[in-house]
Amino acid sequence: MVLQWEETVTMGAGRYDVIVVGARVAGAATATLLARQGMRVLAVDRVSFPSDTVSSHQLQIPGAALLHRWGLLDRLTAAGTPPVRRVRFDVGGGLVMDGQFPAYEGVDALLSPRRTLLDSILVDAAREAGAEVRENFRVTQLTSSGDRITGIRGGARGRPVVTETASLVIGADGKRSMVAGAVGARRYRERAALTFASYSYWAGLPGTAGELYLRPGRAVAVFPTNDDLTMVYVAAPMTEFASARADLDGHYLRTLDLCGDLGERVRSGSRAERLRTTPDQPNMFRWPHGPGWALVGDAGVVMDSVSAQGMTSALRDAEYLAAAIIAGLGGSQPLDTALRDHHRRRDRAIRGMYDFTLRLAALSPVTARERRFLAAVAADQQETDRFFAAFAGIVPLEKYFTLGTALRVLGTRTIRDIRPAGAASSERAPSRI
Ligand SMILES: Cc1cc2nc3c(=O)[nH]c(=O)nc-3n(C[C@H](O)[C@H](O)[C@H](O)COP(=O)(O)OP(=O)(O)OC[C@H]3O[C@@H](n4cnc5c(N)ncnc54)[C@H](O)[C@@H]3O)c2cc1C
Repeated sequence: MVLQWEETVTMGAGRYDVIVVGARVAGAATATLLARQGMRVLAVDRVSFPSDTVSSHQLQIPGAALLHRWGLLDRLTAAGTPPVRRVRFDVGGGLVMDGQFPAYEGVDALLSPRRTLLDSILVDAAREAGAEVRENFRVTQLTSSGDRITGIRGGARGRPVVTETASLVIGADGKRSMVAGAVGARRYRERAALTFASYSYWAGLPGTAGELYLRPGRAVAVFPTNDDLTMVYVAAPMTEFASARADLDGHYLRTLDLCGDLGERVRSGSRAERLRTTPDQPNMFRWPHGPGWALVGDAGVVMDSVSAQGMTSALRDAEYLAAAIIAGLGGSQPLDTALRDHHRRRDRAIRGMYDFTLRLAALSPVTARERRFLAAVAADQQETDRFFAAFAGIVPLEKYFTLGTALRVLGTRTIRDIRPAGAASSERAPSRI
């Protein structure tokens, strides 16, 4: 019987190879890569595009390099997204590192595209690749047979509920993933939110370089974006959120006043959009696969926005997951094995940056030892550029923060002062994946 307790339209069993829930960075990229390999893909999202979301949007060079490889980067630049090649990192106390991002896979600039633009480009790419994309489609339930997920139920508000089935349902539905909740995906390496973030857009704040500031209890980022606007972002400790709420604008502007002449420059421009503030910044890994389901992007790993790595991680995760699914559903490897391998690969790729992000998000004052190291880096242009390569995720952090780097930068005299990097999350990942 088809109509039971609600009006249901069933479109046919196994109509799709893959259903992707959520069609922004992770979901639309995964859908594109799968559809380009001839898979029957349905991607759904509860919003319609172009759509903004609460997120600033520095796309690190490795993320831009993925778009380049997929033939999509030109669309961002053609839409006027300014490239950022130089970055100035002011650590406080007069210590400033000024350098270039090194080129990586043919890309030498960070981009900071508005999400209305980036996400629409990705959704268009998914459609062009042959994926069916349904907007304004909210998934309310997953369907299952035994312990295997078989499809989704949902639809547009006020329209009949639709059931769609597939060999695999992918949750690309963000940090509060409905799919992860429905399958009970296990969490690990979880940490409570450390910071809240506020950002806005300013006109009349010209500049082609990125600016980063560290102050005790604050991190600030300034990056040019589309339409001649500049995005100015502030991270502050969660412990201050309750008191800051009374005057979030004042809290934001007072922070900019701690950053050299930034406050003054911002005030001499004009604010183009309202201030967005969010305390919703969880840190966690989720087990990313099970019978008939997988997770990608923030649904699988989410971390504090202070390191601006979420979109780059989501794009890389999409590439890795798509490769695993093509192997699994294409028959060159059992799907469960391919997804297990993907899990290991994902965790290896992100662990170092996740730990570094948690340390950064603590917003602790720079210690004397760290300052000594950073001062030595700042004094050498090649070392500064190497540092930015690690900061941007071009060189894996665990390969940068080594004894070898300490020796090279400081010499043998002071290497015992260097604290090992990546010690923020003491909880280990499950030993067997
Ligand atoms: C304040 C802030 C600043 C940030 N700054 C940066 C930055 O500078 N650089 C960077 O790389 N990252 C940044 N991030 C992180 C970045 O926003 C995320 O990592 C990225 O958006 C993850 O992409 P995603 O596709 O996994 O998830 P999302 O972008 O969250 O997309 C999930 C999609 O799923 C849809 N969805 C959810 N539930 C359902 C449902 N039931 N049915 C249908 N659709 C559903 C949603 O509508 C949404 O479109 C920031 C985050 C925050 C909060």
